[in-house]
Amino acid sequence: MRMLLIGPPGAGKGTQAERVAKAYQIQTISTGDIFRANVAQETPLGLQVKEYLDRGAYVPDELTNAMVLDRLAQDDVSSGFLLDGFPRTLPQVHTLDACLAELGNELDVVVQMVIEPDEVVRRLLKRAADQGRSDDTEDVIRRRLGIYQEQTHPLVAVYAERGILVSVDAAGPMEDVTQRIFDALDGAVIGADGSEPAA
Ligand code: AMP
Repeated sequence: MRMLLIGPPGAGKGTQAERVAKAYQIQTISTGDIFRANVAQETPLGLQVKEYLDRGAYVPDELTNAMVLDRLAQDDVSSGFLLDGFPRTLPQVHTLDACLAELGNELDVVVQMVIEPDEVVRRLLKRAADQGRSDDTEDVIRRRLGIYQEQTHPLVAVYAERGILVSVDAAGPMEDVTQRIFDALDGAVIGADGSEPAA
């Protein structure tokens, strides 16, 4: 199973990605988490990307693509993965397509998490209070939402055109959203490769 969770910052992608990946027994590849780990460890990549993360700007495609291609080449994701936060731009879509094609694969399903901007701002301000993420201030949140609309939202149409998009209402309690994702995946996933989810 190869899937992607797409949606604005604050839609709850990280939380849902963990639950879905566990149920389908696949690894999550979260570019945001990988970048934050590199920043925390002050690796060469971390030092390069820190200012982008702090500003709420996208890390340049060259850096992001290289990191993801490296991750996708590892054994633990050879038979499936859940991408969280990548691709976020059209060039990243092409990079992912080319990488998977080379391995004889393609994405099976893309789950779009749909949520109102006001709800997102409310959630992210709460996350700022709980976790203290450097990119969760109100200014940066609004900038990240604007960048999402402009650069990432157009990807939804690309995947809809391919017939692999399912959309899920991401408002409300996390458990309800998880259930909606499982329900949406049931049909999509069985259609894509004939297999049943593990849970
Ligand atoms: P996230 O945890 O998915 O909200 O990502 C946090 C930050 O990491 C983003 O605001 C970007 O600065 C950076 N980032 C994560 N994924 C990507 C990506 N696919 N392309 C560019 N920047 C990214």
